[in-house]
Amino acid sequence: MGSRRVGILAIQGDVDAHAQALLRVGAAPVPVLAEKDLGEIDALVLPGGESTTIAKGLDRLGLYGPLRAFADSGRPVLGTCAGAILLAKESENHPVRTLELIDVVARRNAYGTQVDSFAAEADAPEAGDGPEALSLAPLRCIFIRAPRLTALGPDVEVLLRVDREPVLVRQGNVFACTFHPELGEDARVHGLVAGAAAIA
Ligand code: GLN
Repeated sequence: MGSRRVGILAIQGDVDAHAQALLRVGAAPVPVLAEKDLGEIDALVLPGGESTTIAKGLDRLGLYGPLRAFADSGRPVLGTCAGAILLAKESENHPVRTLELIDVVARRNAYGTQVDSFAAEADAPEAGDGPEALSLAPLRCIFIRAPRLTALGPDVEVLLRVDREPVLVRQGNVFACTFHPELGEDARVHGLVAGAAAIA
C-alpha cells in the first residue's frame, strides 16, 4: 500500500514544517489551495499562522464549503493553532469566520500579549480523556500566541491537557490542537491523522 497522502492548507503559515512532520510518519504531504486538491488526499492539516489571513484566503478561494464537505466525508482533519481556531464552531476575541467543524469555542490569543510564546509538558491524561491520550503524553508542547478552547460540547474528547486545560481535542475525525506539533522532532500528533504508526 502506498503512503497516505495528507493535504496541508497552503494559504499561509507553517506549511513546510508540517510537510516535514508528515514525512516523519511516513505520509506524503500535498499542498492544498483549491477544491480539486481535496480529491487527491486522505487527510488534511490546517496549519497555524494568522487565522484572519487564512480566513480571508478561504473566502477568496471559495474553500469554506469544500473543506466542510471534506470533513463530512469522514477523512481526518487536524487544525493546529490558527487552524484549530478555524475548525471551531465559534471564535472569540477578534472573531473570524470559522468552518464550524468541532463543538468548541476558540478564544484567540488567550494567553495574552506579554507571554506570546512558551513550551510546556502535557499533563498525564485524566479519567475520561480519550483513548489516544495515553499514547501521546508525555509530550512537549510549543505555544505561539495560542488560543484557548472552551465550552467543549458533549461529543468532544480531550486527548492532551496542559495545566489541566484542553490543548488537543477530537470530535470524530476532526482534531483541534492549540500548540504547534510540527515544531520539534515528535510527530505523534501528525501520526493521528496520517494513520501511520508513530516513529518519532
Ligand atoms: N494568534 C493567531 C490567531 O489568532 C494564532 C497563532 C498561531 O497559529 N501560532 O490566528
